[in-house]
Amino acid sequence: MKARTAKEPLLRLTEQGWKRLAFALLAALVVMILILAVFPALDGGKPAEVTTYAMGSYVQQTVYGDGAQDAAVAAAAAVQSLENQLSWRVENSDIQRLNAHAGDDWIGLSESAMELLALAKDVNEKSSGAFDITIAPISWLWDFDNSRNEVPAAETIENLLPNVGSGFLRLDMEESTASLRNHANAVDLGALGKGAACDAAVAAYETAGVQAAVVAVGGSVGVYGKKPSGGNWNIAVRDPAGDGSLGTISVAGGFVSTSGSYEKYFEEDGVLYHHIIDPKTGYPAESGLVSVTVWSESGALSDMLSTACFVLGYENSLALLREYSAEAIFITGTKEVFCTVGMQQKFTLTGSGYTLKS
Ligand code: AMP
Ligand code: MG
Repeated sequence: MKARTAKEPLLRLTEQGWKRLAFALLAALVVMILILAVFPALDGGKPAEVTTYAMGSYVQQTVYGDGAQDAAVAAAAAVQSLENQLSWRVENSDIQRLNAHAGDDWIGLSESAMELLALAKDVNEKSSGAFDITIAPISWLWDFDNSRNEVPAAETIENLLPNVGSGFLRLDMEESTASLRNHANAVDLGALGKGAACDAAVAAYETAGVQAAVVAVGGSVGVYGKKPSGGNWNIAVRDPAGDGSLGTISVAGGFVSTSGSYEKYFEEDGVLYHHIIDPKTGYPAESGLVSVTVWSESGALSDMLSTACFVLGYENSLALLREYSAEAIFITGTKEVFCTVGMQQKFTLTGSGYTLKS
């Protein structure tokens, strides 16, 4: 074969050949532009970032892919409508009606509220009562939401405590009705609402068919789909002693919720009183922990379990977490960090002054 000299062109084409080549290149360019216009996120296109306010917290969403903005709006609406169902503060919500009719009637509730109440009763049983949504008479007394900042009289706690007990909440799943046995009973879903809100947002992303999304509601986070830049999602775990992060959890999907004594608290005579109550005593739980972070396939469960584990402490939580195939990180007041076996590969400790124990 004859070698090409430097003067010879690389391609020898007729005039018509050149025209055809130019046309083919132009067509390829048009197709590329069309693909990038239809799938902006595949090109690293800007995600939709939407922040709203519900359930006493910011709802922060980052949604990727076609229809991202509409999906974020739909997810925000889903979270708002869940709050309108679950909050005892919202007039005519399922829970407000259930509480208002305590001791007198069975109340028809939405299917989603019934499912959450049933799950809460299940977690109550499996946590030996550490998690209990009938805590309301006691959580209202402490009133951390309104910063009452006063230790209630021991006698008042003693009088109200007998009204707390999951057995007072009765559910008829067939009829979709619920009742509270006595007038003094009430439920407070503060320990599961934000995780359930993340479930509702992710359901909205699924319906919309977006590529991927992250939603954060207070201490709960949900991730959906494949991260556009590839690899796992990294979720920061807050440093209980400061505003920064203590480490990151690397996950392919699911939900992460944190319960911490730093969230709502006050100090009196050198004692820190926080909002996570031990239903056995009526006082803030004293398990030696300052925060618990739980990963689960369900947002509501991750939120329930983080509260339950905070009350139970590290050792007593392990069986409960296994029941629900959940993983957790426990941080003690002496800056020790314990991880469940499945969490050990997912968690990276970055905060200084902490010791990883397991
Ligand atoms: P979280 O921040 O998810 O741990 O939820 C704490 C909130 O749940 C409190 O502000 C109370 O409204 C409620 N709560 C407190 N203690 C308990 C408990 N032992 N079981 C269920 N709910 C609780
Ligand atoms: Mg919780």
